Amino acid sequence: MSLSDHGPYPASDGYQEAIALDREDPLANHRDRYARGDSSLIYLDGNSLGRLPQAAIPVIEDVTERQWGDRLIRSWNEGWWELQVRLGDKLAPLVGAGPGEVILSDSTSVNLYKLAMGAMGAADEGRSHIVTDDLNFPSDVYILESVARSHGGDLQVVASDGVEGPVGELNQAIGERTALVSLSHTAFKSGYTYDMTEITDMAHRSGAMILWDCSHSVGAIPIDFERSGVDLAIGCTYKYLNGGPGSPAFLYVRSEHQERLENPITGWWGHRSPFDFDLEFTPIDGIRRFHSGTMPILSLAAIEPGLDDVLDAGSGAIRSKSRLLTSYAVDQWRRHLAPLGFGLASPREPERRGPHVALGHEMAWAITRAMIEDAHVIPDFRAPDNIRLGLPPLYTSYADVHTAIQRIKLVVTEEAYLAHLGDDAVVT
Ligand SMILES: *Cc1c(COP(=O)(O)O)cnc(C)c1O
Repeated sequence: MSLSDHGPYPASDGYQEAIALDREDPLANHRDRYARGDSSLIYLDGNSLGRLPQAAIPVIEDVTERQWGDRLIRSWNEGWWELQVRLGDKLAPLVGAGPGEVILSDSTSVNLYKLAMGAMGAADEGRSHIVTDDLNFPSDVYILESVARSHGGDLQVVASDGVEGPVGELNQAIGERTALVSLSHTAFKSGYTYDMTEITDMAHRSGAMILWDCSHSVGAIPIDFERSGVDLAIGCTYKYLNGGPGSPAFLYVRSEHQERLENPITGWWGHRSPFDFDLEFTPIDGIRRFHSGTMPILSLAAIEPGLDDVLDAGSGAIRSKSRLLTSYAVDQWRRHLAPLGFGLASPREPERRGPHVALGHEMAWAITRAMIEDAHVIPDFRAPDNIRLGLPPLYTSYADVHTAIQRIKLVVTEEAYLAHLGDDAVVT
């Protein structure tokens, strides 16, 4: 059975409205800048792996064939050595950072470890605790816990209702023993998005530093570290920046903290003169001291075209569309899916909602599998009962959302999910 045979539903109620919204979309011209191998597939998982920018293809060809194949080791002096700094400076305006405050480096997880360790090492006597919340990405929680333990402190995970950030409870939890507050700016599951300035001020009032994980917001929501007074931040480049699978992450250290914080992974890329091969470690000045070892140049180079397209669109315009698109999805959910037992697992207030919408259903796993296998719609599943609809504004249309919702409806009304109750998969 193929539910996608039901097509784009031109005849269904509301399709013309979606088409009209697409016609007025000022970002509609970005859609074709992304590879679309299968035009009937509705891809709503750009929040886990963004689409391939067409412009990345010749860049990847050049970095392999010419830079690696022909120029070989000479390429290190022809742009490779500086690439992580140059791309960091290019990313900086998206997050309200100045030159020399952002670099591309390692993975988000490793960057979290490096900056959290740095913050804990610089904390005042008597401050050894870290505060986070239960909306945070579990991997971040594991790392923060290990960092707290290695400083003789502990991690407090503030409980939420599973959707909205527990702002009042955080305020209670942050105190005179707190060294660091670390949260996801946009929560990976519900999409709840904190007011960055409000929470940063809250941490600072108690004398703690703040470290934001912007993996689910960078490239989709305007961020201003400078104005918000943010100390430290990290984030992913393979989600809304479309950098490619496993592309290196970014890290931000406010310039006034750069000489004060130590990188716990003191590798040669953070050394003042790496090619002296001196046995003593002397950190280089500035943001580069947060580097450790050799960067994966092929993956790093592939980030630039996606970054260029986000900069070209502008984060204000991206956010404006994102608000409309998620509101449209919520409206479609209310009309077509709520009557079928789907709950909304994202904030109702558009301002607090990030670029994806989460739906809850007790059969979420089997429905997700049927969406992928039978209905040609790719969302993702987050245990135990969450279906995430990622709606990256640069390449998602209102018609995509409309059609996806109609196909989800069919998966349930035609009971296509019943054939998938026992499905298994490693990556969900
Ligand atoms: C995607 C994501 C990560 C990914 O970390 P990796 O080191 O790339 O595996 C980390 N934190 C958050 C909040 C994320 O959403």
